[in-house]
Amino acid sequence: MSFRHFEFLVRWVLFYNAELVWLSWMLPRQPSPEAALDPEADRRRRVAHEHLAETTKGCDTVCAECGRCCLEPVSRFTQFDRLVRMRTQSPAPEYNQRIYSLIWMLYNALRHCFQRLLPHHRNHRPLPCRYLSDQGCSLPRVERPMICVSWFCLTAALAIEEGMLAETEKHLRTIEKLHRDVVRSSIPFFRRRKGPVRK
Ligand code: SF4
Ligand code: SF4
Repeated sequence: MSFRHFEFLVRWVLFYNAELVWLSWMLPRQPSPEAALDPEADRRRRVAHEHLAETTKGCDTVCAECGRCCLEPVSRFTQFDRLVRMRTQSPAPEYNQRIYSLIWMLYNALRHCFQRLLPHHRNHRPLPCRYLSDQGCSLPRVERPMICVSWFCLTAALAIEEGMLAETEKHLRTIEKLHRDVVRSSIPFFRRRKGPVRK
């Protein structure tokens, strides 16, 4: 692992993912539709998704061979996707916060451990995400949930070309900021103090 990859991973885990867990925890369970961001926010999301497709091209082969992230029939669309896309022509088709739930993660991990202990379940493959097709994800990149374009395991992160890491981080920051804006616009206290969310 190069030093540059190491730096990228540390920042991605400590700042990007830790912040997302924190923001997810801060988000009200049922945010008001008034908290939906301006359509300009979704334009930034789409641009970030398109650029990430380019900068993380190196992951395509390893992810196509593995496919682990597209298993489990749980929605990857969250309240964040909902509130970023709600005022656009392409709202999120569904949403919940289960993918960020620590309880669900623990339950799922325990369930798989238990299944591995049972002989007839040893080769059990979890059900796929509803958007998975024989050719991979059936959604165009810009329509995918934000978590699907910003998640990397160690193997995938190491497959990103070193020269693309800075650009990748730049577009991850855009997605990170959208999550922050959703929380700010969902909590009335911040809405009153800061006024409309900045474009
Ligand atoms: S990110 Fe990692 S675990 Fe997920 S599909 Fe790609 S290689 Fe597999
Ligand atoms: S939405 Fe697409 S990329 Fe995301 S988990 Fe489902 S099949 Fe995979």
